[in-house]
Amino acid sequence: MDGLWRPLRHFVLKVHSRCDLACDHCYIYEHADQSWRGRPVAMAPETVRAAAGRITQHAARHGLARVGVVLHGGEPLLLGVRRLRGVLEELRGTISGVCELDLRMQTNGVRLDAATCELLLEHRVRVGVSLDGGRADNDRHRRYRNGASSHTRVLSALHLLRRPRYRPLYAGLLCTVDPANEPEAVYEALLAERPPRIDLLLPHATWDQPPAPVGAWLRAFHERWAADGRPVPVRLFDSIRSLGLGGPTGTEAVGLDDGDVVVIETDGAWEEPDSMKTTEPGGGATGLTVFDASADDVTGLPAMRRRRSGLAALSATCRACEVVRQCGGGLTAHRWSARNGFDNPSVYCDDLKELIIAINEHPGPVAGDLGALPADAFDGLGYGYGDAATVALLADAELAVNRALVGEVVGETAAGGQLLAELERRAPEVFDEVLRHPFVRSWAVSCLDGGGSDCDPDWAAAIAAAVAVRAGIEVEVPVRAHGGRIHLPTVGFFAAPAAEVTVVPGPGGFTLRWPGGRTQVPGNRSGWHAARWVTVDGTRILLEDADPYRDRLEHAAAEHLDAEAAGGWSAVLERAWGHLAADAPEQLDGLRQGLRVIVPLAPAPDGTLRSATSRHAFGALGLARADDPAAVAVLLVHEFQHTKLGAVLDLIDLVPEDAAGERLRVGWRSDPRPVEAALQGAYAHLAVADIWRRRDNRELFRMYRDWTAEAIDALRSGDRLTPAGSRFVARMADTVNGWGA
Ligand code: SF4
Repeated sequence: MDGLWRPLRHFVLKVHSRCDLACDHCYIYEHADQSWRGRPVAMAPETVRAAAGRITQHAARHGLARVGVVLHGGEPLLLGVRRLRGVLEELRGTISGVCELDLRMQTNGVRLDAATCELLLEHRVRVGVSLDGGRADNDRHRRYRNGASSHTRVLSALHLLRRPRYRPLYAGLLCTVDPANEPEAVYEALLAERPPRIDLLLPHATWDQPPAPVGAWLRAFHERWAADGRPVPVRLFDSIRSLGLGGPTGTEAVGLDDGDVVVIETDGAWEEPDSMKTTEPGGGATGLTVFDASADDVTGLPAMRRRRSGLAALSATCRACEVVRQCGGGLTAHRWSARNGFDNPSVYCDDLKELIIAINEHPGPVAGDLGALPADAFDGLGYGYGDAATVALLADAELAVNRALVGEVVGETAAGGQLLAELERRAPEVFDEVLRHPFVRSWAVSCLDGGGSDCDPDWAAAIAAAVAVRAGIEVEVPVRAHGGRIHLPTVGFFAAPAAEVTVVPGPGGFTLRWPGGRTQVPGNRSGWHAARWVTVDGTRILLEDADPYRDRLEHAAAEHLDAEAAGGWSAVLERAWGHLAADAPEQLDGLRQGLRVIVPLAPAPDGTLRSATSRHAFGALGLARADDPAAVAVLLVHEFQHTKLGAVLDLIDLVPEDAAGERLRVGWRSDPRPVEAALQGAYAHLAVADIWRRRDNRELFRMYRDWTAEAIDALRSGDRLTPAGSRFVARMADTVNGWGA
């Protein structure tokens, strides 16, 4: 084996080779290869052990962060709960020692009951169920051997999977396309089962046994799905769209990515995917077993190489085709003819072309589309950067979020609402400036999340007073004190001697008035503390040491700074900026545009560096004061990556809902991280690696680069990303790959 082949990441385990249904479109029992007849009915424990050992060996050898194993058949549930438990314990016990294990099962569903679901829950096995549509559509093929319908039992299984307790198990529906079924009716029947994802499978066929055309059917299904607003991911459509955007595919059925799936049969035989069984007797066989050959031995076989050779493996017709990068010649098996072998276009060529052209011509507002971001801005962020114009787009989007949230809070409390509307009309630019303050959103979120002592509903009045003061609009704004202060965001705070203070802007300043007293700013300003603005390289940054909502960052905020400490911050930021110009010049314009606030954090007791951001405070970075400006420069870039990505995630779904609960192993932490956190970490480390690369610190560069590359690998395996997420991570990978070794 040479080193050019991607390791295998998905292993289909045939744990039971028979089925309790007799679907007449089944590619295992009803096509050319009949090898199932000579195999054991169930996978023996020693075969499971050998398979688990080979998968573990492969993962360890290639340093894989994660592998996927799908329990398949026949029908895997025919194993029964006891034997299934044995299989799951063996797989988890062996493979989980070296990498994360994504366990799945593909079932016809008829035997799925609560006891089985409990076991699957215990071992975190996600379940895909086969369903071809409503009762009549499903009955067309999916029947018991005696002709009885399986539909009612499948719907019972899906009902079970929708129960809150078992919902995490529900991976989606697999529908085999039959043009005899009405596409809209099939769509509605599938959607009614509220699947997290739909997979459409083209009936397996070859040039020797050509299928009925399915292009019009697929297009009609796609049109209806698109008109409905893409309520659920459909892997085939999302993959074609992603490939069209330059991203990866999520299925071997389309695209030029080298496949990373291999099958292990009940007798331990390594095989190519099941679709190859439709070609000829022995189609898909490798002659190797888990007892005598490793997964690397399998990847070295000519047949596996052919299937995984991308463009080079395709016919001349496909190589010259205008949509080849999206189609990829379809599934390998569908190219087969006894006469030419695989040197043909897909037997579904016309159908695939019709669908791809329809998707390209009418991409529509797809789930995972790029939202308000132009493609080049999105890609620029994906590469790990983002110029001033791009960050300005993000900042404007975050302003819209702030406005909407404030509107919601004010709608509920009415405090300051009318006045805010009036001020916005009279001074729209100043109004926006104040609403861009990062902790406006933190405040609104704390109120909308249920309030409690965290929420000061009267803060809307403080925002209004800040706008009035900054715009010099002569209105009287009563502001209630909170924690003994009134705090006017971006303006300053006042140690209030009364429960309520009225802010009265006037020419050149404002008056603070309360029962029995008043003070003038500027002038007699006892108790007033102006907000601390510093200017770094021409950029005004608020050194926020007083905002009551600045404590939403992960680490505690420092107390109010004295003048000397504030001066120290200013000096260290100035010098850190100098390092950025040398070590991260591509990040500077974005930082200038998006960095609004620095929150001094309380130092760590052990003196280690501290920094933080909050998804609900765009443009604010928390830093514990460090005297090393080079280290501060790294922290600024690291945290600003989180800020940018948080804003992208506000605009665009990069992680599908059904992957949100998953955990990934990452190099920089010992505990597995949620998918979005892994993406955030990888994105921050991507930029940090780039700094160490420029500083020529090979050790730190390699550490951050490897962490990033491994996380990218993990994110790109399985169904962890939407099409837009795949594109974003593909750009990140481009940057890493561009660095070389
Ligand atoms: S199968 Fe047809 S549509 Fe697909 S790449 Fe080949 S020629 Fe193009």
